[in-house]
Amino acid sequence: MTKKTLQTTLIHSDYVAPEGFAAFPSAIHHASTVLFKDVASMRSGDWKNKNAYTYGLHGTPTTFTLEARLAEIEGGKHCLLAPSGLAAISMVDLALLKSGDDVLLPDNVYNPNRELGRWLSADFGITARYYDPLIGAGIAELIQPNTKLIWTEAPGSVSMEVPDLRAICAAAKERGVLVALDNTWSAGLALRAFDLGVDIVMQALTKYQSGGSDVLMGAVITRDEALIERIALAHMRLGMGVSADDAYLVMRGLPTMKLRFEAHDAAARKVAAWLKQRPEITKVLHPAFEDCPGHEFFKRDFSGAGGLFSVLFDPRYTEAQTDRFVDALKLFGIGYSWGGANSLVMPYRIQAMRRNWPDAGILVRFNIGLEDTDDLIADLAQAFAKL
Ligand SMILES: *Cc1c(COP(=O)(O)O)cnc(C)c1O
Repeated sequence: MTKKTLQTTLIHSDYVAPEGFAAFPSAIHHASTVLFKDVASMRSGDWKNKNAYTYGLHGTPTTFTLEARLAEIEGGKHCLLAPSGLAAISMVDLALLKSGDDVLLPDNVYNPNRELGRWLSADFGITARYYDPLIGAGIAELIQPNTKLIWTEAPGSVSMEVPDLRAICAAAKERGVLVALDNTWSAGLALRAFDLGVDIVMQALTKYQSGGSDVLMGAVITRDEALIERIALAHMRLGMGVSADDAYLVMRGLPTMKLRFEAHDAAARKVAAWLKQRPEITKVLHPAFEDCPGHEFFKRDFSGAGGLFSVLFDPRYTEAQTDRFVDALKLFGIGYSWGGANSLVMPYRIQAMRRNWPDAGILVRFNIGLEDTDDLIADLAQAFAKL
């Protein structure tokens, strides 16, 4: 190296760290610019090639590692990261739908996905239609020649119906329609979606993968290479990138995810069973409970449940009363999302959200965190007393 001024030395250092460092955590690679060895490798660089690097937005060892690990967990082959679960959903729609196409969404779909459907219908010449989440094989009657995509959610994340995914996938396959599953509830641990015939799995990594209530991220996973190539094009064109630090935080949650998920599951079943015998509650909408529509598909297809479920209050209680119950809870934060250590609660005006919702009464959703269940139950009991 020729002699450098101090200014240049601030930028170009001669130090190279010794090789051979090994540790369990993956390294965090920050980069916008990715350096090429020479002009020839720059010219032959292809952003689609995951064995090489072209630009920070197109992938670093950090994001490629997280993608590969998520694909493994889900039983898929290919994965793309997005800056939120919702961004992952919209990336799938923009990749696979064009003007003139039709998309089917369950009536209990994650509400921002419904909002996306409204936007596609209003401004993009795509029709978004809604089906009864318990439609099963009846979905065949809704499939039109221009239907390209069916979204599913197992279960719906507020009303908790468990769909017959096998029947929906079989009907879709027969007509050459793709099925995408929002598999966030089971974290990719308790439902082997690809084995049931699902083509595209979406995960909100914001939930159990992170586990810390501190990261927003999403993933799209497939087994099919041609399919991920179509989605990768949208990923590139939309500039979907995630921060290296956030990718690291999600990766840090993975080794403990199954243990956390199982702890949430056991605690949620215990709290739900306690709620079930309360006179104020008419139904416990937890897929492992018989009250829950689609319970038989839960038993058939799932190996676990996680921490999220809902209850219906007896219609004799007004919204003002159930709001008082929610406000009285001390260990449950009032907030959206789930998958972190803290228990959460959220009341919903479910009758206004759904067509043909059969029940009266206020719906309240719980995310059971990792607190001691005896303390959670004591907290619920004192809040019931304030109804
Ligand atoms: C949270 C969630 C999403 C969206 O994830 P974000 O990272 O918050 O955008 C999508 N679907 C379901 C079922 C979710 O619970």
